[in-house]
Amino acid sequence: MRESVKAAVIGAGVAGLVAARELQREGHRVTIFEKLHRLGGSWVYDPRVEDDPLGLDSDREIVHSSVYLSLRTNLPRHIMEFSDYPFRKIWDPRNFPGHEEVVSFLNEFARDFGLVELIRLETEVVRVEAVVDSVWVVESRTSGVSLEEVFEAVVVCNGHHTEPRLANLPGIERWAGKQVHSHNYRIPEPFRDQIDQVYEDGTVSFQDGISVCSDVIFHSTGYKYHFPFLRTNGIVSVEDNRVGPLYKHVFPPQLSPQLSFIGIPYRAILFHMMELQSKWVAQVLSGKVHLPSKAEMLADVQQHYQRMEECGIPKHHTHRLHPNEFEYLDWLAAQVGVLPVEERLREIYWQVYQTTS
Ligand code: FAD
Repeated sequence: MRESVKAAVIGAGVAGLVAARELQREGHRVTIFEKLHRLGGSWVYDPRVEDDPLGLDSDREIVHSSVYLSLRTNLPRHIMEFSDYPFRKIWDPRNFPGHEEVVSFLNEFARDFGLVELIRLETEVVRVEAVVDSVWVVESRTSGVSLEEVFEAVVVCNGHHTEPRLANLPGIERWAGKQVHSHNYRIPEPFRDQIDQVYEDGTVSFQDGISVCSDVIFHSTGYKYHFPFLRTNGIVSVEDNRVGPLYKHVFPPQLSPQLSFIGIPYRAILFHMMELQSKWVAQVLSGKVHLPSKAEMLADVQQHYQRMEECGIPKHHTHRLHPNEFEYLDWLAAQVGVLPVEERLREIYWQVYQTTS
């Protein structure tokens, strides 16, 4: 008999929405916590930028989305769909639409699968902690009011494009110009007409010997994984952007299957990947699919780390799938008994990859 669990999903972005759909399909009881006032996560454009343009002050008011006003997708829309749910209304004539269309797509998806009713908006999860085996406390805050609830499973879908990751540039503390992380870029106007001026004290030198004078350094150096609400007594940690240990980037062996993460890897057809990961989590929780033993999962994670080391891949690339993105998606598809991603979509992905990288 299939088991139905009471599951908390943290976040109503792509990952949270598709996770909720798959959990519900598998008969689980789902609550989605979303700290913002609407669904869509990173795709919801927010004109605000943070007070601290580098995101160093941990007390700053955090703006979730890093999307800038003119942003268009970097993949064509038909590889940013779910396997059974295409973009139905084309709002934007371009194949690589603007962020608004992705938000509309996600809203329609949520409406069509009855997910809207499951979302608690403006409700931030501030603590997730295992109290005893299979029992998790989720503490959330809505308008300053705290609530503690118990769940049998927690699916973490909080995204990882919000906390700036900065390069360590020797001499940066003496550099007189302005610095901004790409998280806090929205529109070009504040920077117009600056770069054609040269200041003596604003020199930036690059490794290849080129020097430029600049008013602003844009740190487009990526983001950090960040789970400020998670209390696991060190079982799950983030070190140099490695979230670990995670079996196949989803399940921490010691806490599985009750705790899982959707959307951690990057460099793939992400919507498909999150859908497949979600099906896997939902089916493992219902007992339809079984995980290996904890020891086997840990050994698999160690093997992954070892292979990376042998190939000279730095630790902070632990969750980068390229060039094995389809190997991973195929593996997930086989776990949950669905067809692998279509050849046609793979070809499009590689074409886009080659022209953009
Ligand atoms: P998010 O979209 O970040 O959603 C996470 C949600 O969790 C948010 O709504 C957030 O408010 C909520 N949340 C966080 N913490 C809490 C908490 N404690 N309590 C309650 N709620 C919480 N991907 C593509 O496929 N194609 C692209 O073209 C593309 N372009 C991108 C461009 C930029 C600039 C960026 C930053 C990313 C881009 N991506 C792209 C990747 C994009 O992040 C994914 O497509 C997708 O949005 C990730 O979804 P997610 O649900 O994992 O995270």
